[in-house]
Amino acid sequence: MIDLTVTTWREAAACLEISEQVSFFPDKEDLAGIAKAKAVCATCPVADECLTWAVETNQTEGIWGGHTPKERRAIRRRWLEEIKKAS
Ligand code: SF4
Repeated sequence: MIDLTVTTWREAAACLEISEQVSFFPDKEDLAGIAKAKAVCATCPVADECLTWAVETNQTEGIWGGHTPKERRAIRRRWLEEIKKAS
């Protein structure tokens, strides 16, 4: 589990440079917008950290770590099942 108080990975985020050109909170029907955001995430050096943070803090909106809310819900479900099995 990551330390949720440590978010220095954000300083290396690819979206810092282009956040005005690409929305990371596109409507769920905006497939082109989702694809644009995911394309940026695909180049991001901290995508793994971003995805982990978004899953562990249960971010319910936006594209984080190259994943939509629906995709993250599935990841979070598996993550919670693993925690439950381990306890
Ligand atoms: S993975 Fe995407 S949303 Fe997360 S920091 Fe990188 S560019 Fe931004």
